[in-house]
Order: sequence, then structure tokens, then C-alpha cells
Amino acid sequence: MAELPTTSVPVDILRGFVADIFTAAGCAREEGAQISRYLLSANLTGHDSHGVIRTPRYVQWLQEGKVVAGQDITIVHETPTHAIVDGNWGFGQTIAPRAVDLGIAKARANGLSVVGLRRTGHIGRIGDWGERAAAAGLISLHFVNVAGGELVAPFGGVDRRFSTNPICIGVPTKQGPIILDFATSLVAEGKVLVASNGGKPVPHGALIEPDGRLTADPRTLYGPIEGTHVRDSAQGTGAMRTFGEHKGSGLAFMCEMLAGCLTEGGTSGPIPGGKRTRIANGMLSIYLAPGSFGAARFEDAAREYADYVKASRPAGTGGEVLIPGEPENRNRVERLAKGIPLQPETWAAICATARGLGLTPPTVPTPNV
Ligand code: NAD
Repeated sequence: MAELPTTSVPVDILRGFVADIFTAAGCAREEGAQISRYLLSANLTGHDSHGVIRTPRYVQWLQEGKVVAGQDITIVHETPTHAIVDGNWGFGQTIAPRAVDLGIAKARANGLSVVGLRRTGHIGRIGDWGERAAAAGLISLHFVNVAGGELVAPFGGVDRRFSTNPICIGVPTKQGPIILDFATSLVAEGKVLVASNGGKPVPHGALIEPDGRLTADPRTLYGPIEGTHVRDSAQGTGAMRTFGEHKGSGLAFMCEMLAGCLTEGGTSGPIPGGKRTRIANGMLSIYLAPGSFGAARFEDAAREYADYVKASRPAGTGGEVLIPGEPENRNRVERLAKGIPLQPETWAAICATARGLGLTPPTVPTPNV
């Protein structure tokens, strides 16, 4: 599918508009603003797949009772160093920071901690949680699954078995955090969503048809998409694929073990004798305080090594070696200045959701053709 021209929406206008939508949909003003802030954080870092494009789907989930406003975490199991917490189907943007803060508090007190989160709404860009831990001076590792969110075929198969299973590892340095954050699917599902709205196409082979043919067509995942605003992966007959052949497939499998089985939030697969009516993110997070390992120079050593890696000669003329998190940092600087690029279909879908809640969308510049 060809890429359509975009419109650039100033960050403040978009942030306020999206916050208003969630408030009108039933969230308290503060929660609406926080959901909007994290969605914008994804757009600012260049991950439009996890940005405001999610607004219509989140509002639909709220209206259907699949996600609940105004929730807090409940501690299910706890020791000084670890905990399992339940998100009570709250918004991921409300629940995840509270689970992360619990992990931070425990790691600060004990040198390390492990916190498993289950039954929460979509927690968006996992890099936000690595950044939150790094801001507290902690290394963190996050393994994520989507209970009930089967979308991805295992290596060698065509049937959906895994969720998109992102992994994030963040380290603090004095010059800012270094954040690795990616889905173990070849692309995040939201990138297929963006492509289905006329945004950047996904690479060939990101999706697989039931007969094993590789494709980049979003209809493999969503079925017919013409004339509809909310995409439904239940309508497609194909699957997404993991990155890195058997290696990505193995990592996805282990995310399901850690974030689904260990947290008891459930895996992406079917529940025995039942039918899932909604999806939930699970996340197993490990927090490490470098000083408690005697690594007093950790932050300096990490930065020195990053500089050494970056100093590699580029493979191509004009090329450059980037370290994890660098593309996101650059996007943030650029988009804060220039605004968030949105496909007309994405903007139309957000505006349709707003109008349905009695709001009048702001005027934005016409697309750059
Ligand atoms: P991606 O393929 O864009 O990879 C991003 C990672 O690769 C980042 O760490 C980035 O810094 C690094 N990177 C990118 N280009 C680089 C380069 N040229 N050199 C060095 N490093 C580079 O990300 P993705 O897999 O499309 O995932 C997008 C987002 O989707 C992530 O934020 C992820 O957390 C999120 N996600 C969330 C869920 C969920 O259930 N909540 C599920 C899947 C994905």
C-alpha cells in the first residue's frame, strides 16, 4: 500500500485534544492527561504505532468495559525484593508507572527487585518504563506479553501463537538513558495499523498468509479495511512473523513464559475451556541498582563503551552507527519542534471519535503533498 501525505499537528494541540477525548470518554481529567502524555511520548520518539493512533481503539475498549478508568494496582504477592501486581484492567498508562515505581522503590531499598504485572490495559511503548527506571538510576529489563493477543506465527508455522512480545532493556548514564526497546515480531502490530491507514508500509515478509505466502498487505491481519476506522485483527486470516527466524521466535516464546505464565496473567493463547473477550498486557520487570553490585563506575563505563561502539567505521558512505535509543532521542528533538506527522486517515479516525463524544476537533494544517 502506498504511503499517503501527512499533516503535522503541533504537540501541545494534539496533547490537549487527546486528553480532552479521554476525559469526555469518562476518565478523570488527570488520567486523561496522563494517557495522552504517554501516547504523545510514543509519537515523539517516532513510534507512531503506539501513539495517538490508538485513541479510537482505547475509547472503544473503555466504552465496551474492556478497560476501566480510575484503577490502581493491587498487590497479589509480595516480599521485600519482589511482587506480583494486578492491574485490575486499568489503563496501562495509569497502571504501568505504578508497577514500575514499586519496582524502583524495592530496588532502591534492596539493590534489586523483580515485579510482575498482570491484567492491565495496553501499556504502550515499553521504552517509557525503561526510561522511568533509568531516571531513578536503575538498570531495568522488561519482558512483555499480551494475554489473549495471539497475532504472531512461531518460526516454521503459520498459525497465530505469540503476541508481539516486546523486550526493553534500559541503562542509566549521566548523559541520559540508553534504551533498547523492540517487539519480537518483525514489526510491532501498530506498524501494520499505521500502514493500514496509508502510513509507512511494513517490509515484505512481516506477515504470512495461511498458505505460507509471505506478504506486506495489512489485510492479511485485519481483513477488508476499506471504509472502516477501527481495525480488528480478528477479521484477518493470516499472521505476523517474528524477527530473526528461530531467535526472535525463541525470545517471543520466553516473553510468554515470563510475562504470561510466571505472572499468572495468562499467555497469548486460549484459556482452557473459555473464550477471551479482552486482551491484557503482562510484564515481568527486573530492576538492578548498579552500586549494589559494587559497580561504582557503571554509568561512566556504559557511556565510554557506547562511544567506542559509535566510533566503528560506517559500513556505507555517509552512514553512521547508532546506539539503542539514539533514533528515539533524535525524533523527539525534531518532532517537538515540527509537530507530529499523522496520516489523514489516522487524524480522521481520532476526529470521528472526538465528535462521537460531543467534541469539536481543532483545526490543523492541510497535508504536505
Ligand atoms: P523498532 O523495530 O523501531 O526498534 C526500536 C529499537 O531499535 C530501539 O531500541 C531503537 O533505538 C533501536 N534502533 C532503531 N534503529 C536503529 C539503528 N539504526 N541503529 C541502532 N539501533 C536502532 O521497534 P518495534 O519493534 O517496531 O517496536 C516499536 C514499539 O512498540 C516499542 O516501543 C515497543 O515497546 C512497542 N510495543 C509494545 C507492545 C505492547 O504490547 N505494549 C507490543 C509490541 C511493541
